[in-house]
Amino acid sequence: MTKIAFIGLGNMGSGMAANQAKAGHEVLAFDLSAAAIERAVAAGCRTAGSIPEAVAQADAVISMLPAGPQVRQVYAELVLPHARRGALLIDCSTIDIDSAKDVAGQAEAAGFRFADAPVSGGIMGAQAGALAFIVGCREADFPAFEAVLGPMARVVIHAGGAGAGQAAKICNNMLLGVSMLGTCEAFALAEKLGLDAGRFFEIASKSSGQCWSVTTYCPVPGVGPDTPADHGYAGGFATAMMLKDLKLAQEAAARAKASTPMGAQAEALYAMLDGLGHGGKDFSAFIQLLRGRLDELA
Ligand code: NAD
Repeated sequence: MTKIAFIGLGNMGSGMAANQAKAGHEVLAFDLSAAAIERAVAAGCRTAGSIPEAVAQADAVISMLPAGPQVRQVYAELVLPHARRGALLIDCSTIDIDSAKDVAGQAEAAGFRFADAPVSGGIMGAQAGALAFIVGCREADFPAFEAVLGPMARVVIHAGGAGAGQAAKICNNMLLGVSMLGTCEAFALAEKLGLDAGRFFEIASKSSGQCWSVTTYCPVPGVGPDTPADHGYAGGFATAMMLKDLKLAQEAAARAKASTPMGAQAEALYAMLDGLGHGGKDFSAFIQLLRGRLDELA
């Protein structure tokens, strides 16, 4: 049994911490929200009064926080000064590459092994213990991080050194954002051309247009596997979250002097959907904008 301090018990962290407890580990859970802590205790975690209290006893620290500023503050002020010597530190939040590298540098200077380990798989993956972890850390430290992440994972992949996990996650999500917009356009056009959506799904799934956004996460209700489209575009991966990741991609691209015109277009289009008040809806809801049916979104 490992003692794990878990910081950030929101949509993602709650399921992840529960899976660590289910695997028999002692989980010391902390969040700013009392309701989130209550949920974690109901799922088998123990409550810690503060982050310093949790990390002082833990063999591993896992954080799942909103963005870079929270991760910087929590590690600099509360984790690094109080964590037990030898503890493994893992940040699973999706944050900017510079923040991930800075925190890794501070952790290393304080004598800790640190990994940026953002995830893919969404809330369903977090609850099912079936996330893909994309890990940035020293090669030699990877097996130790892989072992801690195991109970929450479908797969754990080493992307490279510090910050590489965030870099790979940002590139993946830019690709996903672009492919979903293309999928929405194709299905909206197919509808206007009088094609049956189910037939077109079958054709695109077996032809060169095939991609995850078509086959696994189709934006049209009643077509293909069950997706947020079948539930009024509720749940899933929020448009606002996709927008955050696309902004991170554009910032990274500007720094690296990389040309990402499709990513920039995707950012603008999701910003439009967000600005129309649908940031909480799944990112596949973009098809409703193309179909002129945004009023159907509750
Ligand atoms: P969330 O807002 O539901 O949860 C974040 C939690 O962190 C909240 O419970 C909040 O109270 C807590 N928190 C904030 N500041 C804190 C602090 N200083 N100390 C302790 N707790 C603090 O967000 P989420 O959906 O769980 O996402 C978390 C991270 O995972 C984000 O970086 C997001 O981009 C990433 N992510 C989310 C999804 C998804 O589908 N939701 C998928 C992949 C990755």
